[in-house]
Amino acid sequence: MKWCPDCGEAKAVSEFGLNKRMPDGRARYCKACFGVRSKKSYRKRAAEQGRSVRERVEAPEGHKYCPRCQEIKPTAEFGRNRSDKSDGLTSYCKPCHTLVGRENRVKNHGSERNYKLKYLYGITEDDYERMLAQQGGLCAVCRENAGTHVDHCHSTGRVRGILCFNCNNGLGHFRDDLTGLALAAAYLWDVEVWADRPAVPGPRRAEVAPTRSSHLSQRYGLRHADVERMIEAQSGLCAACWEREPEHVDHCHGTGEVRKALCLPCNTGIGQFRDDARFVWRALEYLAPPIAWEDYLALVTHG
Ligand SMILES: [Zn+2]
Ligand SMILES: [Zn+2]
Ligand SMILES: [Zn+2]
Ligand SMILES: [Zn+2]
Ligand SMILES: [Zn+2]
Repeated sequence: MKWCPDCGEAKAVSEFGLNKRMPDGRARYCKACFGVRSKKSYRKRAAEQGRSVRERVEAPEGHKYCPRCQEIKPTAEFGRNRSDKSDGLTSYCKPCHTLVGRENRVKNHGSERNYKLKYLYGITEDDYERMLAQQGGLCAVCRENAGTHVDHCHSTGRVRGILCFNCNNGLGHFRDDLTGLALAAAYLWDVEVWADRPAVPGPRRAEVAPTRSSHLSQRYGLRHADVERMIEAQSGLCAACWEREPEHVDHCHGTGEVRKALCLPCNTGIGQFRDDARFVWRALEYLAPPIAWEDYLALVTHG
């Protein structure tokens, strides 16, 4: 028998590990206590070096221990991790995983926001602040609302400016298309775009118009015949882009007066620019500065 100074128990010699440096060839502490000691010293060393220790905590079937919140949770509360060989789950539970990810991004990138700016747009928070300051804190399109959204060119990835939520969405609905924007501005200004617009609707349009018009008349409480006439006068096409079929009767939000029938992208896009031709025009200038009146006319008449 041998006495262990840690647990104070006398145990069989075989309960003590081997240690050549000890006179009896056995460790000073019993195996159980030695285990606790080495774990403690490992943790202490790890803590000194600023590492965290991943502890294996036994969890019942279908459960797993999260070392961050130190709770045993059902495995469904852990994310999938294909590269993990042991159980294919993330080390931390889902909420902790999110927080750890955020902490790491803050640690590596200065802030969550900086990470997003870098990751999505390749700019830093400083770049963002500088751009916004150059814009006087305002949206680069309407120059009225506060700039809040980073706008970038989808084909080149170049960051163009900081926009307000509405203008950013507006550009999205027009897919950065200059002609579409020019036509929308023309529509709001009531500029006659097509002098030689086809007067008679084509066969396909004529077929589509009745169902569309009945849907639209119901939706807007207009007389069926009025909607029919409106769409016919527009050759069965959206009154802004003259390309797609009208799906929406546009009305002036100030007076409630019904204007014309528009396709969905034009209607939504114009709405995002708050039915204001100036904002659409500024969007045009923003994408292709500076735009001359002749260029504008060229866009709307040969679009
Ligand atoms: Zn012991
Ligand atoms: Zn957790
Ligand atoms: Zn704006
Ligand atoms: Zn349209
Ligand atoms: Zn509306």
